[in-house]
Amino acid sequence: MPPARLPDSPLASRFLDSPNRGERRGRGRPDCLILHYTGMASGEAALKVLLDPASELSAHYLVWENGAIDQLVAESDRAWHAGRALWKGEDDLNSASIGVEIVNPGHDGGSPPFPERQIAATIELGRDVCARWEIAPERVLAHSDVAPARKQDPGEAFPWEQLWRAGVGHWTEPARLSGGALFAHEEEGPPVRALQAMLALYGYGVGITGVYDRQTRQTVAAFQRHFRPERVDGEADASTVATLKALIDRLRPK
Ligand SMILES: [Zn+2]
Repeated sequence: MPPARLPDSPLASRFLDSPNRGERRGRGRPDCLILHYTGMASGEAALKVLLDPASELSAHYLVWENGAIDQLVAESDRAWHAGRALWKGEDDLNSASIGVEIVNPGHDGGSPPFPERQIAATIELGRDVCARWEIAPERVLAHSDVAPARKQDPGEAFPWEQLWRAGVGHWTEPARLSGGALFAHEEEGPPVRALQAMLALYGYGVGITGVYDRQTRQTVAAFQRHFRPERVDGEADASTVATLKALIDRLRPK
């Protein structure tokens, strides 16, 4: 029998070898961290799926409600968590990332809050992974950031600001809510194109169509879930645009 493998992170208590993995393609090391919720009734049910070869799903880590962490795939390997995705023009996010599944039933389960112990463990794990792989703060992403048309996780109930205050991820204080949508659905013109260009500059895989179309609304909703969680409606209001601009400004070297 081969010796049991030790987790890559000292924070993980068990290494449970998921068969759902492969080699990272075209790159030796991950440079982003993607956070998910499991979206299932229980952590046990999610773990079963993540270890089942028939599911073809996995993640590097699973963070339980009580803060325990299991590792399922070696960090050097490519886990199967992001699916069809796009960020900064790159489409193989599984090869580019470390994936972390956080046990939470998600939107379909009524979006219960993430327990404090679970968030503390997620923060510790994020700090550890980002330090060891030198992952930039703005490359700590939501699954919904890289797949806005398909995914909502980890959702607007996830405390991104708290993570940022603890040194994990990118954030700016959201601009105050005021006023309604700046664009009607299917409205067309240079201002819409400018908004799409800003979203794309930040990293979102939005098409620059110049039309406030469905994919733009989905991308704006993904942005709001992560950065302006007070109202997630896919409408570009003044607060959404100002928050996006502030985040972009923060990326620029001083
Ligand atoms: Zn996900």
